[in-house]
Amino acid sequence: MTAKPHGPTKLRRTLPNHFQIPTTLIHLPSMIETQILAPDTIFGQIAEHQHEQVVFCHDHETGLKAIIGIHNTVLGPALGGTRMWHYASDMEALNDVLRLSRGMTYKAAISGLNLGGGKAVIIGDAATLKTEALLRKFGRFVKNLNGKYITAEDVNMTTKDMEYIRMETTHVAGLPESMGGSGDPSPVTAYGVYMGMKAAAKKAFGSESLTGKTIGVQGTGHVGTYLLEHLQKEGAKLLVTDYYPDRALDAANRFGATAVGLDDIYDQAMDIYSPCALGATLNDDTIPRLKARVVAGCANNQLKVENQHGPELVRRGIVYAPDFLINAGGLINVYSEVTGASRQGALTQTEKIYDFTLQVLAKAEEEGTHPQAAAIKQAKERIASVGRVKSTY
Ligand code: NAD
Repeated sequence: MTAKPHGPTKLRRTLPNHFQIPTTLIHLPSMIETQILAPDTIFGQIAEHQHEQVVFCHDHETGLKAIIGIHNTVLGPALGGTRMWHYASDMEALNDVLRLSRGMTYKAAISGLNLGGGKAVIIGDAATLKTEALLRKFGRFVKNLNGKYITAEDVNMTTKDMEYIRMETTHVAGLPESMGGSGDPSPVTAYGVYMGMKAAAKKAFGSESLTGKTIGVQGTGHVGTYLLEHLQKEGAKLLVTDYYPDRALDAANRFGATAVGLDDIYDQAMDIYSPCALGATLNDDTIPRLKARVVAGCANNQLKVENQHGPELVRRGIVYAPDFLINAGGLINVYSEVTGASRQGALTQTEKIYDFTLQVLAKAEEEGTHPQAAAIKQAKERIASVGRVKSTY
């Protein structure tokens, strides 16, 4: 690893005087992060991404309706969080779990982890439906998979929820540190995104230094905030936005950033755009508006249509750091819980994201493809080669 975070630099504190976030909330942020492409049948969807197993879980008493997607277990048990969301339809939930579990396979593979890809969704409004009984019932379904799937936290799930699931099965990761777990993965995720961003900057600008670069961070939640800390220390000029205006204002005050309106972020004169909120923000509407030369953020599934918007960024000379590669720090942290490694060990492994990103960007250029495709190809190659190793009893 050759990247060195720069020392603290005195920052120009910019008051959010042209803060333009609308005060009325129009719609809830959607976590359905990309297009539904798969054929509209259950097996059509499962076949599209070649999932190994999909488990539908139902319990009349607790109202549990959940789907566990196990994409690939060649490298190891399928590890991935459980998300609780009020999906508009069962097919939408299925699509989400299939797409997310596939992403976990690639994330683990490219990061050199001995893990497969899995994910689970619980269908329903977490505010009204989530109970101890429902979570423990879900835990029983996880237990029945005998370790083939290991669950963890995701959207609308807390460490407390993991404690309930843990009462029924040991196949849970991401537990609080007080329970011997690896704790909040967000700081490690943010560190990996920071490393990936520096690598992409090196490719685009010839230097990994972010000092003086204008960086727009979309989403000042867990990861976004930790990322802002790194960027502020290195002396970047920061723009922030968030669905909740007070969060953006807090971040602006804390990190000396300028807060901008939700939709205005795409039009800003910035060097780097960092999507840290939700997916599919790189699409037909937003890409033509981007002045940034680098895109590097933590959100999953940033490209609305991978094989359309990935090449479009290349055509426009924008360096894209593959999302599942640079946001792998959280998974690396959770993996440390499975292997017994320390948080420091997880950070050291996460630092390698800098080199991995440079390698993938070089490979994409060499092969005349876009970085996301190059990253997926690399992940698939590792799965195939390790699969051959395992073919001997
Ligand atoms: P979070 O919920 O803490 O933060 C997300 C923030 O984005 C929130 O403050 C939310 O208000 C804001 N937001 C939602 N819609 C928005 C919009 N349209 N414009 C601007 N802001 C908007 O989540 P997080 O844990 O920080 O994760 C952020 C993203 O990174 C998610 O896509 C998540 O799946 C992904 N991710 C997180 C981790 C992790 O370790 N937490 C790991 C890998 C990937």
